[in-house]
Amino acid sequence: MSGRSLAELTGFAVDEVKYLKGPRAASLKKAGIETVADLLLHSPRRYIDRSRIAPINEVELGEEVTVIGTVKRVSTRRPRRNLAITEAVVGDGISLLTVTWFNQPFRERQLTVGAEVALSGKLDRFRGNLQMKSPAVDVLNASTESLVTGRVVPVHASTGGVSPGHLRRAIHNALQRARPIGDPLPPEMRERLGLISRDQAIVDIHFPDSLEDKDRARERLVFDELFRLEVALALSKQKMIDQAVGIAHASKTELLDRFVENLPYRLTGAQERVIGEIRQDMLAPHPMHRLLLGEVGSGKTVVAVASLLAGIEGGYQGAVMAPTEVLAEQHYLGIKGLLEQASLAPLVEGEGADLGMPSLFEEHGPDRPVTIALLTGSNSEVSFRPPGSVRRDDIVGWIADGRIDLVIGTHALIQEGVHFARLGVAVVDEQHRFGVHQRVELKDKAGDVDPDLLIMTATPIPRTLSMTLYGDLDVSELDEMPPGRPEVKTIFVGKDPAELARAYERVREQAAINRQTFVVCPLVEDSPKIEAASATAEYERLQGVFPELRLGLLHGQMRPADKQAVMALFRDGGLDVLVSTTVIEVGIDMPYSTVMIIEDADRFGLSQLHQLRGRLSRHSGPNWCYLVAEPTTDEGAARIAAMVSTDDGFRLAEEDLRIRGQGTVFGARQAGLSDLKLADILADMDTLVTARKEAFGLVARDPDLEQHPEIRREIRALLGDDVEWLFIS
Ligand code: ADP
Ligand code: MG
Repeated sequence: MSGRSLAELTGFAVDEVKYLKGPRAASLKKAGIETVADLLLHSPRRYIDRSRIAPINEVELGEEVTVIGTVKRVSTRRPRRNLAITEAVVGDGISLLTVTWFNQPFRERQLTVGAEVALSGKLDRFRGNLQMKSPAVDVLNASTESLVTGRVVPVHASTGGVSPGHLRRAIHNALQRARPIGDPLPPEMRERLGLISRDQAIVDIHFPDSLEDKDRARERLVFDELFRLEVALALSKQKMIDQAVGIAHASKTELLDRFVENLPYRLTGAQERVIGEIRQDMLAPHPMHRLLLGEVGSGKTVVAVASLLAGIEGGYQGAVMAPTEVLAEQHYLGIKGLLEQASLAPLVEGEGADLGMPSLFEEHGPDRPVTIALLTGSNSEVSFRPPGSVRRDDIVGWIADGRIDLVIGTHALIQEGVHFARLGVAVVDEQHRFGVHQRVELKDKAGDVDPDLLIMTATPIPRTLSMTLYGDLDVSELDEMPPGRPEVKTIFVGKDPAELARAYERVREQAAINRQTFVVCPLVEDSPKIEAASATAEYERLQGVFPELRLGLLHGQMRPADKQAVMALFRDGGLDVLVSTTVIEVGIDMPYSTVMIIEDADRFGLSQLHQLRGRLSRHSGPNWCYLVAEPTTDEGAARIAAMVSTDDGFRLAEEDLRIRGQGTVFGARQAGLSDLKLADILADMDTLVTARKEAFGLVARDPDLEQHPEIRREIRALLGDDVEWLFIS
């Protein structure tokens, strides 16, 4: 490679660039632009194509336009207290234009006389003069030095208080000193993919001669970003396989067969296929890291149980981790029920099962039942003793000595002093709350070998996201719903009281045929107390609305025993309406519920709404989901519109990403994602797929990147601490 590499340029602080000494450099650093490499990758926010800009006198009145001109005069007057009117006159050599802003006195400083500016807004005529009110302003060259040579003017986002003009000059200077910039991609790959050189790309992203040049530059730099990320993911996957000592699970399927035969339904084709994929992984000697994607209601639980049994069959233990206590309890009951159906779990006897029972299933034939425990922060029980008859410490001890085969719990499982005798399979439900760190902690709990890991998630992950966020995992997808799922009618309830009255009428009608209603109360961010209070108030109000019905209340501030009692009462049909906060958000089954009313629905995230709605339709017959809202933001309105228009989880997930933007989705969740500055994982889907293929191919051929030291250096330098572990051997 000839020329300076980006990795090398991460070694120069922005202070070294002309125009960026002192406080400017300091504020840029605060905004995340610390090195010359960062500066060169800080691409313009937009571009103004001069060739497409009309002279002022040819612009249609009333249209949104951009015009370019030179500032002739600027002044501010204050006709009243609290009112400052800044007025500038801008000319393009043919016509003059008057521009006004109200209470933006800083405009006077921004628009120095002689500066060339681009103004975007609506053109009007007032008393014979052309004028623009409060347009957006881009100062093109604050000084006499013009860098704007081509017909395209780059507009950099002003960052950390450093103006676009300043940034442009600093970048220009940095480029002159840093070029030529070397290209780490193998020439063969670059040619095959039809990408321009990196040197050209970095120049053209900042100072293109035409918009076409800018597009080609962007294409190359977007590829680079995604390629770096995917190489890091490929290395991470490689490393997990290399370093881990996995378990080659037994190949017999006695337990599994018995379980499947005794299910009250036939597995869907997708369930069978996915169970097969998981079995393949489990038979292999390296640890499984598999992500199971499946729409709400696609039947992930059965797949999870099948995987757990495959491990238990060979004498290993299984664990299920759920994101909330309520969900863990529900999984415990559900899984215990499924195993009891197949006579695989002990039914509780008065005096309980013999605890002197042998611990290794394998040695004792299929009549030794599978022992199950529930363990959350506030609750614990086992399947072979009556509830309440066993102490928590006993259970922890039985997990450690291997008498318990299957443990279901919350994150408490990996946080509190719980150790497993021989954990073989771990299932994590609803992954979006479970990060990479917990994966590592879980491995530590299991001792010398790495358990197989199955991570399950309902939507909110478009395929592009799973390729980036979870790109180091293998993916299985349940893309087929169990038959006979009734549809959910989703209805928006706006301001009109008559609409709400109709929803309440539906509640009464359904209660009359022993169907239940779920009322979900507004989300109160960071304040479970206020949330609980508002749910309680709503519960009291609804008692007035439905005096003839039986209402229950469930919120996060209640004591665990009370929560359980309410849940049990609802499950057993003892309530017509359950008023609840989002403690029921994920995973709770409500087989007799047909109506859900979500209050202030515009305040929920799209994936949350989808999850909530997915709680319905677990039985035959129609369902209704009422979204009550008076949306105050465009985003809130967009989410509700999306919910009403589709119940396809993948479409909603993409819509969600579109509405929220990828930055908020990524957060600081995984290595390298903050590196995505240019790439838009929805719009750049094709590039993502290509980058992934190239990256995984490269790492397969050259696992330590020995033949591609520049790529290795660049990933290390640009992705930083997050990926450091990949390079420690
Ligand atoms: P999720 O993927 O949302 O976790 P669950 O595993 O809770 O879904 O399953 C949703 C519902 O579908 C459950 O009531 C379950 O009993 C039922 N179910 C699962 N698999 C099948 C199947 N193959 N045929 C019919 N019903 C099924
Ligand atoms: Mg589930």
